[in-house]
Amino acid sequence: MAEPEFLQRVPEGIRGMAPYQPGMPIDELQRRLGLSDVIKLASNENPLGCSPQAAAVLRGEHQLARYPDGGGFALKAKIAAFHGVAPEQVTLGNGSNDLLEFVARIFLGPGRAAMYSRHAFAVYPLAAAAQNAPSVVVPARPVDAEDAYGHDLVGFARALSDEVAAIFIANPNNPTGTCLPGGAVADFLGEVPESTIVVLDEAYWDYQDPSTRPDIDALLARHPNLLVTRTFSKIYGLAALRLGYGLSHPALADLLNRVRQPFNNNSLALAAGEAALADQAFVAESVALNARERARLERELSARGLQVLPSHANFVAVGFGRDAAPIHQGLLEAGIIVRPMGSYEMPHFLRVSVGTETENDRFLAALDGIMGTARDAAAG
Ligand SMILES: *Cc1c(COP(=O)(O)O)cnc(C)c1O
Repeated sequence: MAEPEFLQRVPEGIRGMAPYQPGMPIDELQRRLGLSDVIKLASNENPLGCSPQAAAVLRGEHQLARYPDGGGFALKAKIAAFHGVAPEQVTLGNGSNDLLEFVARIFLGPGRAAMYSRHAFAVYPLAAAAQNAPSVVVPARPVDAEDAYGHDLVGFARALSDEVAAIFIANPNNPTGTCLPGGAVADFLGEVPESTIVVLDEAYWDYQDPSTRPDIDALLARHPNLLVTRTFSKIYGLAALRLGYGLSHPALADLLNRVRQPFNNNSLALAAGEAALADQAFVAESVALNARERARLERELSARGLQVLPSHANFVAVGFGRDAAPIHQGLLEAGIIVRPMGSYEMPHFLRVSVGTETENDRFLAALDGIMGTARDAAAG
């Protein structure tokens, strides 16, 4: 078939793009392999679900015929109070990805580049490509460093130029789990010109050691070009609802609001978000489970001779020292979905979300089965 003519109008960035690859849904693996008992450790979701109070709100009455509050007044007020900022500094997104898109739409384009680290969140290159913007990809920390594969902010600073319009920093980073030392973000911001936007993506903030957390109050007060993003998809367990937010100078929030769809957050998400934010006991419980199980996974995987990148999030990147695709496939056949990292240029690694104790046990047992078989085959 001849190529439809409209393809000639498509900008280079979009032509060369591969769509985001989400973690495989449980239903899909069940369908594909005829399995009934499937667990998913592939998208860094909260294995405890969400706050029971948020779940109760969702079961209540909702005016589904009415448009949602396009300004998100009540939730914004609660987020502002939670962070001790003004509501004018809060921007709501349909997931925090929405905020990344707003930044790209406003600031990126031909001659207006994005900057990000080599093994960073997959959405940054996609957002840049969709704007037909160039990307400055900063090499990661060396493989023998303690923070191997993590962000090198010294390298970021060296790569700054007039062309760089927006910088994306994931801290802790997905898919590596690495986190910047306390103070590193503040030092870096001091070197970035105020005309360049810096997005500090803190999707995993709750999981990181408090001593490493940047002081975002101080940073927001000092840097009008800073956008801090947070999400309800991870610790709050509301990934299905698509809810995230940004904190920034009001002038930046005003710009973000101009390109935001008028009703980007649905009513259920707005209502559940309020309840979820109020339930910090659930957050604490989720943090505690993650800390316990992440440490156990790191211990168990290291004991098997595998490379485990020290994680500050709710997943671990596990290195096998060889192509991890067969192990990924073996796990799928055992009903366990984890994330291959080839698209992150780390094909020897798999990213495994920290599950419940039972889920993690099942993952480890399946892994032993697969690696034992591989060992036997090599021996025989
Ligand atoms: C999961 C994740 C997000 C969250 O995306 P949502 O759109 O809020 O679901 C943002 N940044 C990073 C680095 C992530 O891993």
